[in-house]
Amino acid sequence: MKHVIKTQSVEETQKVAYAIGKWVKSGMILTLEGDLGAGKTTFTKGLAKGLDIKRNVNSPTFTIIKEYQGRLPLYHMDVYRLENGADEIGLDDYLYGEGVCVIEWASMIEDLLPNERLDIKIFRDGEFERRIELLPIGSEYETVSEELN
Ligand code: ADP
Ligand code: MG
Repeated sequence: MKHVIKTQSVEETQKVAYAIGKWVKSGMILTLEGDLGAGKTTFTKGLAKGLDIKRNVNSPTFTIIKEYQGRLPLYHMDVYRLENGADEIGLDDYLYGEGVCVIEWASMIEDLLPNERLDIKIFRDGEFERRIELLPIGSEYETVSEELN
């Protein structure tokens, strides 16, 4: 079931993401969709904190994938420029690995993704207002909303 959260600041968005970072389990796939400036990278920074990652997380746009080590590995991907290169980066090793995948622009590689995952959409409702929609697919993922109250 879709879960909608509204935030009014960077800190609030990161608090939501942090809670998801605490909840997330080995091998999980999270997709992140939203326009430029919606808050995808901001969200991922909060999620990384919830995974006990100390390094600063920034946009992987030009590298396609960045890997961080915390409680679990985090594979932060921006697949916007991936095109036909899924084999090139060994996408499956990440998707079916031990870490947590956060995939920006996941709709570009929809066909390559497992069905069960947490789809996250961020909408810019105003300068500081954001609407975060969580759509869990699969029973493992359904428990996410329990973490957010
Ligand atoms: P994206 O990765 O989606 O392009 P970023 O996370 O890089 O977006 O940028 C989001 C921008 O929106 C930042 O400049 C941030 O300060 C600003 N912002 C303002 N309000 C919020 C909010 N409630 N949640 C997240 N970001 C916000
Ligand atoms: Mg970004």
